[in-house]
Amino acid sequence: MKVVVVVGGVGGARFLLGVKKLLGLPAVGPGESEHEITAVVNTGDDVWMHGLRICPDLDTCMYTLGGGIDTERGWGQQGETWVVKEQLAKYGADPDWFGLGDKDIATHLVRTRMLRAGYPLSAVTEALCDRWKPGVRLLPMTDDRVETHVVVDIPEEDRKAIHFQEWWVRYQAKLPAQSIVPVGAEEAEPGPGVLDAISEADVVLFAPSNPVVSVGTVLAVPGLREAIRKTAGMVVGVSPIIGGKPLRGMADACLTAIGVETSSQAVGRYYGSRQCSDDGVLDAWLVHTGEAADVPGVAVRAVPLLMSDVDATAEMVRAAFEMAGLDA
Ligand code: GDP
Ligand code: CA
Repeated sequence: MKVVVVVGGVGGARFLLGVKKLLGLPAVGPGESEHEITAVVNTGDDVWMHGLRICPDLDTCMYTLGGGIDTERGWGQQGETWVVKEQLAKYGADPDWFGLGDKDIATHLVRTRMLRAGYPLSAVTEALCDRWKPGVRLLPMTDDRVETHVVVDIPEEDRKAIHFQEWWVRYQAKLPAQSIVPVGAEEAEPGPGVLDAISEADVVLFAPSNPVVSVGTVLAVPGLREAIRKTAGMVVGVSPIIGGKPLRGMADACLTAIGVETSSQAVGRYYGSRQCSDDGVLDAWLVHTGEAADVPGVAVRAVPLLMSDVDATAEMVRAAFEMAGLDA
């Protein structure tokens, strides 16, 4: 079976652990399987800092699936130290609000060096995964530079648009966003292998990732939405919203910025139906137990959607496969 999963960072990575488990792979690390899992990863969070190229969602997936993640924080490496960050702060080097750990910096150094030598991000990611062995193919949505910017009013400053990371990490998404723009997406091309993986997939899953700045950014790369709309496999989404709230995060601030209510029904409608709309991407939509959602043209089922552990997550994935008419 060929499975494609559209993912962002923490929510996407945890979901992928469940996909691996259900398909008989060890949740963490590599393994033998007749199945093939491809993750199409958001790169709109990527950013240059201190001369380093940082890819938060790719790294979160890589560290989580490769067994190096700090599970408590959900991002960065376990056993991390912060010497470089402290030293940068002593120089007053901007930005000082982003958590760059020493171990993490090694990843960014290798990546930046390879990018500067001319390798595309997809090749760099493959090289980094040689170390981490995530057991799934991690494909950047694009090799081109796409950066999500947020239009805000910053008190006493005349800056209007800031990088998503600054809005999210520095301002904790508390500055009201007027709009959220994936800068560069219009000119971007899907990364190598992305369109083929989608067209050959037996099933395409949307992880319960941020609908706006994770899944939405992937769908903003020209050709990707169309490929998902055309694929022969079923397309099943999983709601990141439970009881009208995102879990661990501030996705509601992103939804509000694009005028979508924070509910599983509204997010399902925002993704829309492949059958009954001109730009929708879903055949089926999973919402949390006890919730109902009316998404025209989309089959909806309620199952437990809390990724409290890998087994619970694998059961979510099983429900998604069942919606796709597949037996796993
Ligand atoms: P980020 O890039 O690190 O922000 O991570 P993602 O975009 O992949 O995922 C963030 C989303 O995951 C948030 O909107 C959360 O609501 C969602 N999420 C986190 N944990 C869970 C969970 O246990 N169940 C569900 N259904 N969603 C979750
Ligand atoms: Ca992210």
